[in-house]
Amino acid sequence: MSEDDAASNGDATPGDRGDADRGTAVAVTRIEVPVDTRAPDGTTNAYVLDGLLVDPAARTDALDAAVAEHGSGDAALPSVEAIAATHAHPDHVGAVADYAAMTNATVVAREGHAERFAEAAGVEPDETVAPGDTVGHTAVRVVDTPGHAPDHVAFAAQNSATDPTRSVLCCGDLAVAGGSVAVAAPEGDLSAYLASLERVRDAGYDRLLPGHGPAIDDPATTCDRLIEHRLARERDVVAAIDGGAADLDAVVDGAYEKDLAGVRDLALATVAAHVEKLVAEGRVDEAWRARLADRGFE
Ligand SMILES: [Zn+2]
Repeated sequence: MSEDDAASNGDATPGDRGDADRGTAVAVTRIEVPVDTRAPDGTTNAYVLDGLLVDPAARTDALDAAVAEHGSGDAALPSVEAIAATHAHPDHVGAVADYAAMTNATVVAREGHAERFAEAAGVEPDETVAPGDTVGHTAVRVVDTPGHAPDHVAFAAQNSATDPTRSVLCCGDLAVAGGSVAVAAPEGDLSAYLASLERVRDAGYDRLLPGHGPAIDDPATTCDRLIEHRLARERDVVAAIDGGAADLDAVVDGAYEKDLAGVRDLALATVAAHVEKLVAEGRVDEAWRARLADRGFE
């Protein structure tokens, strides 16, 4: 996948580099890096947002160049002073340690999840941040977006030199332009995920910059689509249970029409997340707690 190393910028408004008169407008650079993941395109987007490097999933020449460019002394391109991940999955933190060593930047993790971050990234965070904080001396703000993973955050910034009210959100695995992201037990939390999508939709960002795939220029429509996708699956899960499914595997068979060859474990974990939500909301029998435990979901 070496051709991926050459991919950079793409549609992430590389022209919108902050100018000196507008302190809030920040530069955004997107660098697509190849990763070992089940994501269809096998790549993760790393971003440099103001002086923050987000989700350096793997070390590549293109990402090296972007990081070097941000240390070039160009006033419109702040050097990379901090490194963070939207969440500590391997396809988002793979090269955190490499770029931390290369740049001496401050490694930042979410408060309360430093240990999880260190385990996944192979480097201890220098600092922790909480939702609402800005990261280091950058103009980037941390936004609470749990659901896909318990430590999931997004990074918000004003993005346009011509209109300082335009805002972007590096949203990690909260959203994708096409298809959907995994919200699977045991760590996925469907209620939290739906609340995160609603919060991001209502915040009115102009553009979402996802962890995988192209930028999202219709955030509200995309958030609504992803919410409806979950609710449709929930209806299928409820229908399967109402129809007599007596264990998780039977729910999977009832809730999915497509061939699950190769992805059945993910479908099972997804259905488990739905059943966990339904149990918590008192919408299905308490006996489902034991059935979840039977399949290893506590
Ligand atoms: Zn993830």
